[in-house]
Amino acid sequence: MLDALRQIVQDVGAASGFRAALDLLVARVSMILDAEVCSIYLRNRQSGRFVYVANEGFNPQMVGRVSLSSGEGVVGLVAERAEPINLENAPDHERYHKVLGIGEESFQAFLGVPIIHVREVLGVLVVQDREARRYSEDEVAFLVTLAAQVAGLVAHAEATGDVDDLFPGTDGAEQREARFHGIPGVAGIGIGTAHVVLPAARLELVTDREAENVDAELALFDRAIGQARDDIERINAQMAKNLGPEERELFDAYLHMLDDGALAGDVREGIREGQWAQGALKHAILEQAATFERMQDSYLRERSADVRELGQRVLANLQEIRETRGSYPEDMVLVADELTAPMMADLPIERLRGIVSLKGSRNSHGAILADALGIPTVMGAVNVPIYELENRTVVVDGHYGEVFVNPSSPVRDLYEGFQEEEEEFARELETLRDQPSVTRDGHRINLWVNIGLVSEITRSLDRGAEGIGLFRTEVPFAVGDRFPTEEEQRVIYREHMEAFDPRPVTMRTLDIGGDKPLSYFPIEEENPFLGWRGIRITLDHPEIFLAQVRAMIKANAGLECILRIMLPMVSRLEQVEDAKALIHRAYEEVREEGHDVKEPLIGVMIEVPGAIYLIREFARAVDFVAVGSNDLTQYMLAVDRNNSRVAELFEEVHPSMLQALREIAKACHAEGKPVGICGELAGTPEGAVLCVGMGYDVLSMNAANLPRVKWVIRQVSLIDCRRILARALRMRSNSEILDFVRDQLVGAGLDRAVPHHEVPISF
Ligand code: PEP
Ligand code: MG
Repeated sequence: MLDALRQIVQDVGAASGFRAALDLLVARVSMILDAEVCSIYLRNRQSGRFVYVANEGFNPQMVGRVSLSSGEGVVGLVAERAEPINLENAPDHERYHKVLGIGEESFQAFLGVPIIHVREVLGVLVVQDREARRYSEDEVAFLVTLAAQVAGLVAHAEATGDVDDLFPGTDGAEQREARFHGIPGVAGIGIGTAHVVLPAARLELVTDREAENVDAELALFDRAIGQARDDIERINAQMAKNLGPEERELFDAYLHMLDDGALAGDVREGIREGQWAQGALKHAILEQAATFERMQDSYLRERSADVRELGQRVLANLQEIRETRGSYPEDMVLVADELTAPMMADLPIERLRGIVSLKGSRNSHGAILADALGIPTVMGAVNVPIYELENRTVVVDGHYGEVFVNPSSPVRDLYEGFQEEEEEFARELETLRDQPSVTRDGHRINLWVNIGLVSEITRSLDRGAEGIGLFRTEVPFAVGDRFPTEEEQRVIYREHMEAFDPRPVTMRTLDIGGDKPLSYFPIEEENPFLGWRGIRITLDHPEIFLAQVRAMIKANAGLECILRIMLPMVSRLEQVEDAKALIHRAYEEVREEGHDVKEPLIGVMIEVPGAIYLIREFARAVDFVAVGSNDLTQYMLAVDRNNSRVAELFEEVHPSMLQALREIAKACHAEGKPVGICGELAGTPEGAVLCVGMGYDVLSMNAANLPRVKWVIRQVSLIDCRRILARALRMRSNSEILDFVRDQLVGAGLDRAVPHHEVPISF
């Protein structure tokens, strides 16, 4: 059955549209299970009813014309219970409800399984037979497995709007106001016109569409083919150093496939018949690939992968050419499949009002950059119909993770009102710039910034930053096409130190690996977050580490600013000893070269849970400690910080996290060492209050969050923070703790610092 399952999933994925995919699915299932009838019911989001959308074996006229509510009939019961129902004689069931017109009157055997995506029942897949029989365990398992795989396809069709075509009378996405739920990324409200950056090309996901202008599509295809040829020739030439002519025959084969007599000819024909270029390409490639797959000879079968690879390449070119645009909306909301830092670098940031990312979570590095820029962001909005959004009006509610597309006037007015309130609050916060961050009972907290781009220097100083708590040095490393030289690094580091002088500057040594790759230093690993990351790489490459540390020490020459060098991802004490020895060596070398430099302070980041049990030792070995709560949460709770599927489990004030954070602070103080926190938690009002209560000396955050945190700190007392912490430490869940701290802030009249508006109900 595994082969049958694989084949169905593959064929359904290659079908020429969603409706064709469903028709193919019901036909195949009824054949494999030898069932007389197979049907699919899908939920219409607007009405909440399950609509009969595809069928094999019944009256085809009724497709699209029959629907059931959840709980209605046995099909509705499958949806309500969200589990399979297997009945020998369905008409005997108390919930049996005869659906008139489709012809199911004389059918007895019934098996229905729910189609579930991320806990939501999107539909029901049913097989039926005239004869009474109970479907076997194997058959049930087959249908459940299939439904779980089909769920992704249905969710995607919902996101693209393809599913709406199956529901007669549904408004097109054109006019409809729609609300989508994601994960709060960056607090704030943004309103603007969508600019979509499409996901990397995937042939299977290209939909059929009529060519608006056949000549233009042909010209587009010619350009895409031309680029693909150039790419292949370039790669071929590069490979000539390492591969012999025989091995490089593959590239010639690729070039032949692009000839008019082969693939390209088929695609042109498809375009002339009225398909747009991407659709014609999809059909030509999938047909060719399927032909190869059916071949007996294993060598030829393997060629199907080459055809697909070639198709992907041409498709990527086609999409890129289409995307290249001269003008961007004045007020722009970036909608991306996966927000990345380089993606933002290509856009006019000054026009960016909001960001919606289908993948990722608040702690992805793209979101951290958006936070640094203060752009309201919603992450993990998986169901947003990205293909439909270009040029639509979008409201981004980064406080609650809500996205409104085509907002109605009342919704838009409401959000414009919230926006005005926020702007007024922001103006008030500006007056705090030169005020100290002291609690009402006189306790001083250092508010520093996390930084990575030169452009953030001015913004940080304007917001009243008292130092740099985390310089993410991997950002300057990521922009070039090789490791920067010592002198190139010195210049960048110096710029920051001079700007901040005499304030302290904390430079983190290179923290690449995990989700922070360098294009010129690829690392292939199965589990990158548990692999070669941070200090593990730099200790293996002392030449990179030494050049960086020397650049830092030299950049500090002649300044009052205290240089603090911070080591990421440490898990064992020997790493600290080794790194300290290298830093000391670099310092001696730089002095011997005649530079007038001070010895830097050395600190560690606590990001690996195991380090918490050795925290006294670590604290004793260094001058300062800083908690990287983003990674610490990720490793402590085993939740990938980038994965939107588990983003709800990424709980920075989970009771275990609170215990850990408090232990770290206590242990560092017991060793007489200052302790800070530089994960995203520090930049939230709730996190700041808890960390102040624990005794953290430094809160380091993105500049955009600093004024709000300072405003809160100046209006609470240390005693309040300790009281809140003591209660929070007795609580059992992240949400209980967060709600409690928010209530305390609201009770103290600080509601403007925490999200407090009601999200309007849409539809
Ligand atoms: C952290 O892990 O909390 C941290 C500050 O480092 P980064 O987010 O750069 O991994
Ligand atoms: Mg980290």
